[in-house]
Amino acid sequence: MKSISIIGGGFSAWLIASIFIKKKFSVNVFEGENLHFGSQQISPNGWKALTQIVDKEDIKPVFEAFNAIHIKKINSEEILELLSNYDLTNNDEVYGSISRENLVNILKQQVLSNKDVKIYSSLINHIIDSDNKIELLDTKKRIFETDFVIGADGTQGASRKFVVGSNKQTNLKKIFRAISLDTSSYNLAKKTLQILLHSQGYFVIYPTIIKNKKATNYIFVPTDNNVSPPIFDSELLNYLIPNKLNWQISLVGNNTNEITSIFKKGVFLFGEAAFPTLPHLAQGGNQILEDAIFLKDFLENNNNFNEMVESFIQNRSKQREIINQKSKIVGKALSSQKITGYFRNLAIQSKGKKLIEDIFNQVWIS
Ligand SMILES: Cc1cc2nc3c(=O)[nH]c(=O)nc-3n(C[C@H](O)[C@H](O)[C@H](O)COP(=O)(O)OP(=O)(O)OC[C@H]3O[C@@H](n4cnc5c(N)ncnc54)[C@H](O)[C@@H]3O)c2cc1C
Repeated sequence: MKSISIIGGGFSAWLIASIFIKKKFSVNVFEGENLHFGSQQISPNGWKALTQIVDKEDIKPVFEAFNAIHIKKINSEEILELLSNYDLTNNDEVYGSISRENLVNILKQQVLSNKDVKIYSSLINHIIDSDNKIELLDTKKRIFETDFVIGADGTQGASRKFVVGSNKQTNLKKIFRAISLDTSSYNLAKKTLQILLHSQGYFVIYPTIIKNKKATNYIFVPTDNNVSPPIFDSELLNYLIPNKLNWQISLVGNNTNEITSIFKKGVFLFGEAAFPTLPHLAQGGNQILEDAIFLKDFLENNNNFNEMVESFIQNRSKQREIINQKSKIVGKALSSQKITGYFRNLAIQSKGKKLIEDIFNQVWIS
């Protein structure tokens, strides 16, 4: 039986492991650190994919569904003006949020229920191409031999360095993330995904469940890297966006024109390691779920790893490129200021529902 080593301890690693445990491969997972912060949106396409991989009943208790998408403007008097309200209750599709920790735990439990999987609490820092095998060297200087590697260790992992030649990203964009367990914030955020446009950037706010508690998830995307999340005087706005939020900074690659290879000498990149994705459409994780379904379906009839990779590249790369380009356009529109921002607001006010449908329907249905 051929061996597959999965590098990474995040969402992609456990997701791809749960696809391969049921196939004719021996599976090793090299789990790095578990650094899961906050929640992520599961859009209808992601929900459809996720529920083909794990039992719906395991997800429901930790899933917070949205009823609507609101796009609002925070004006100079710190008053919220509703520009568009998109009702999700008429849709059959499910849209909501799940914490990264819960998502990883559900996938991990599924993998651990399979006795044949070997898990190593190990950080792989070198991949060596050696004749017909691949050697993995961890930080404890141990060497592991394997037939294939799935590199799900993010944009800065050893896998991307091996396949692409570098794991250093350029043109990084600062994004702020925070969580609040405050009840008044949750009550104001309840059941709604809110996009709030501000002169210094935009907020994305939605309800979620963190460690069994009702919570609110915040993202602030600044107009540029020198801007920090604004502080508000308005009491009402402070209920929704408390000034005392403990913002964490993430740096995401902004270079969507860069197309790199995702496979080299038996090492196949998966997840963020393969396709670094801009966050403006909240599709990073949702697209990874779709990638996993593609691989799952392929493996139903064919266990040839190299053919699987070839088919994946042919069928999924283009879609990933399109999503990133769309994400870039949406990010630019949401960050527009002055005259462009003024016309954007008018367009959202008059055609908000149609705009949301035009952007998202193609993404959600894919
Ligand atoms: C601000 C923001 C908001 C987002 N919102 C959404 C959203 O709403 N919906 C959505 O679908 N997506 C969203 N995303 C994208 C989503 O978070 C990512 O697509 C997803 O986290 C990628 O998971 P990953 O496991 O591929 O990579 P990562 O999360 O980067 O995980 C990589 C893992 O590999 C481990 N690792 C690294 N190096 C090594 C090594 N050498 N050896 C072993 N292990 C190693 C790390 O410890 C880590 O656990 C968002 C992203 C950002 C930045």
